[in-house]
Amino acid sequence: MTGERFNRPHDRHHIVHKRYGPDPRLGFISLLHGDEGGVVKPLSRGLNFAVTKDPLGFPDHIAIFKANPPAANLGHRKFMGKDLNREFKKKGGSWQKKEILEIFSSYPDIEYLFSFHEETDKKAYQKVDGKILISDRNKNAFYMYDAYDPKKENISISEFLGPLRRALIDSRFSLYDGFDDYKKFRKENVQLNKVKQGYCLQTADSEKFIDGTLENWVVAQGMKRSFTFEIPAHISEERKQLMMQIIFQTFIIPFLNRAYQ
Ligand SMILES: [Zn+2]
Repeated sequence: MTGERFNRPHDRHHIVHKRYGPDPRLGFISLLHGDEGGVVKPLSRGLNFAVTKDPLGFPDHIAIFKANPPAANLGHRKFMGKDLNREFKKKGGSWQKKEILEIFSSYPDIEYLFSFHEETDKKAYQKVDGKILISDRNKNAFYMYDAYDPKKENISISEFLGPLRRALIDSRFSLYDGFDDYKKFRKENVQLNKVKQGYCLQTADSEKFIDGTLENWVVAQGMKRSFTFEIPAHISEERKQLMMQIIFQTFIIPFLNRAYQ
């Protein structure tokens, strides 16, 4: 895949990003959590597929495949006890956070963020009679977040969500139903988000978005929308690739055709 590679070889800190085209409108990112490396190859192949399929039509974009190098090198979710994807709410923070902010601030025309995570949690959470019921999670289960301010963005995704869900089920994946994450004893603001048939809608006034995640932070900063895809961690690389292909074919590409028609 062509594209310019940006790094700073003389700097101890460097998050590499690639830029495709002169005026990026989209951002793709993975590995904010260092233990989610299984999503990088499928993402880079998925993007490659999207660009080569439609070299003129696919919008200019940047890609940050390894957003948290020190955590990724260890294979840990966090580095030095810090979850990078909870840092996007106040000043200061890690060098990774600062570099990611620098990268995005140098591309003010980016309107949509597509973020890719792996879901490593083997448990599922449902609420029954006001209590959280914990069970084993189907390892094929997919879900995604959709974050935007309805006053500023109004593309309805129902016509893309239906085909995405159907294609996933046709390929023997399942759609997660329940809560994303639950910590009984730990205070964590990113938990108990309700996921229905693999989809979690997060709409709010822009300024109310800030919960420490990059995906919500960018909306608060003025991006139109962010999508976060949670690829199940405990399936084969081929299956991850297949899920990624489905996400691009049935959701991302049709959505972008609508957004930039
Ligand atoms: Zn993650």
